[in-house]
This record gives sequence, C-alpha cells and structure tokens, in this order.
Amino acid sequence: MDGIEELQRIFDESRRIVFFTGAGVSTESGIPDFRSADGLYNQKYKYRPETIISHSFFEADPAEFYRFYRDRMIYPAAKPNPAHLAMAALEKAGRSLGVVTQNIDGLHTMAGSHDVAELHGCIYRNHCTRCGKAYGLEAITSSPEVPHCSCGGIIKPDVVLYEEGLDEDVISHGLDLISQADTLVIAGTSLVVYPAAGLINYFSGDHLVVINKSATPQDARADLLIQQPVGEVMGCIRI
Ligand code: ZN
Repeated sequence: MDGIEELQRIFDESRRIVFFTGAGVSTESGIPDFRSADGLYNQKYKYRPETIISHSFFEADPAEFYRFYRDRMIYPAAKPNPAHLAMAALEKAGRSLGVVTQNIDGLHTMAGSHDVAELHGCIYRNHCTRCGKAYGLEAITSSPEVPHCSCGGIIKPDVVLYEEGLDEDVISHGLDLISQADTLVIAGTSLVVYPAAGLINYFSGDHLVVINKSATPQDARADLLIQQPVGEVMGCIRI
C-alpha cells in the first residue's frame, strides 16, 4: 500500500504520537457515520439527524430522539478493529501519548487505550437529568422508550448534542495531548465538525499525517497523506 513504509518510518522515529480520530475509524467495526444519508434512513425519520440529536429536540421530543439514537448511534455489539488496536498498542509500547476522538462509541477504550479525550462524550455514560445519578448503556438499551431514573427523571446520554458546548476539561485534555505531540495522525475524519476540528491548529510537532478516504482541509499541510481505510493502514504497522 502506498505510504505505509513512510508511515512506519515516521512512527519508528516518533515518541509522542497522538491520534485525532473520527467516524472513519469505526466504519470498519460496522458503525456507519450517522451523517451518511441513505434512502431507507431518509424515509424513516421526519427530521435531519442534526435536528434530532440537538439539545432542544431532546427536551421537546425525547421519544423520537431515543428512537433515532438507539437505531443510528449506539452499536453495543461493535468491537475494536485493527486501527483501534494498533493505536492502543503504540500507547502501551510508550510511543503514543493517546487519542483525541470525536467518536462516542467507546472503542478506543475497549481496545485498551488509556489516555482518550472523548470530545463528544461516550454512549457508555449516561445520567439522570433530575438527580444526576449515573447509568450505563444498559439503562438505555433495556428500556422500551424513554429511559427514566428511579427518581422519575429522564436519563440523558453523556454525549454532546448539537447546541451544546464541549466539556472544558475534555477540550483542555485534548489540547494538552495535541500540543505535546511530535507526530499527529488525523485518522478517519474529514475535519468538518467544529470546534473539535479546530484543535488540530494547536499541533506544532514534526510530522502531520492524514489517513482518510476523502479529502480534508489539512491535506495540503500534511507530510504524509494516505487515502485508504484506517484499519487496513494501521493493521500493516509493526509496533
Ligand atoms: Zn434521578
């Protein structure tokens, strides 16, 4: 595959690799990008995904929110693929500082990565909007419609919805990782979602690598550009 030898060379001389990941890292685990519109999905919902997974929609119509959320945003059976596993192995080997991700699927953690900044939250964490009690994913998947807390409040995923700001501690964690990196690998994201994508501007290390099937705004700045599926690329790397 074109670029693999160069990628290996960059990894071999890096000690502080940081990965910035998006939906394209999880497609090989069977999780489609919820933004990718297909005919079936267009027929099934009355609103665009950006409308349904917004804060005001959650408040106004939690039943329809959860219908979409269960259907399109949670994949409890998904397992880490070679991309997640290679990133975790590099961290374990002391070569990577960690992962900054826009994904909410928890697969980096499941793969064994310890330092993960989940910019948009995670489906495995949920809380009661009334009393704050924490719940796991099962509270969402096992309830028939809108999940409720024992206190009667509605349970909400710890996932950043449209109209909501990112958690400041998580942003600051992500910035720390990116600003300390000697190599930044942008993987499986077209960098169209802000403010997450803006974090890339804090990178001042030696090597910027982009692994993404389609074009990104950072392609021209990249030292290495590989337009292939991330799992196939990372699966070739010797740790
Ligand atoms: Zn409660």
